[in-house]
Amino acid sequence: MNIILLGSPGAGKGTQATELEAATGMKHIASGDMFRAAVREGTPLGKLAQSYLDKGELVPDDVVIGMVLERVRQPDCENGVIFDGFPRTPQQAEALQAALAEHNDAINAVLLLHVDKDVLIQRVIGRWTCRKCQAVYNTYFRAPKVEGVCDLCEGDLYQRSDDNLETINHRLDVYEAQTSPLIAHYRTQGILHEINGLGDIDDITARMVQAIESAKPC
Ligand SMILES: [Zn+2]
Repeated sequence: MNIILLGSPGAGKGTQATELEAATGMKHIASGDMFRAAVREGTPLGKLAQSYLDKGELVPDDVVIGMVLERVRQPDCENGVIFDGFPRTPQQAEALQAALAEHNDAINAVLLLHVDKDVLIQRVIGRWTCRKCQAVYNTYFRAPKVEGVCDLCEGDLYQRSDDNLETINHRLDVYEAQTSPLIAHYRTQGILHEINGLGDIDDITARMVQAIESAKPC
């Protein structure tokens, strides 16, 4: 059982990946982490990838897929894998599917965590963090009792400089441009599951688990 997790910035993908690991026993593989581990451990593919990075070049798809296959054969992946951050393009998706098929394996489902753009924007531009205790508030969803002051420790609340409307709009546009061909690819294949990303964390996890169960091969 292998699934791919998709979701725009601010949709809660990281949180749900952790919840899904706990709920299903599947292993969450974030492509960036996998990459860094292979380079750090100096595996042959890690060294090869590093040689491209050293030249400032993109690591070719077949090298990345080699690393993915190496990773999914490790014992902690025997209950299945939740891919996150890979594949990024329809070409990579097809190469991954072909490589998995050689091992009688496949991508069984693609879960797209969907949250309306207006809500994503509010989640980011409404976010305030306490300087003293790092508690997080949101002026739209969970406002502090006194504006600009932490409920817990009375510390000052601040906003990250990149939490502004222009930046988040740009990040969402980039995400959409990069990901919409991939979403269309998996929709055509009939394995795309759109998950409502609003509501309690546990409810969202339950929706995802249900989609995974429905996609299990007989
Ligand atoms: Zn505080």
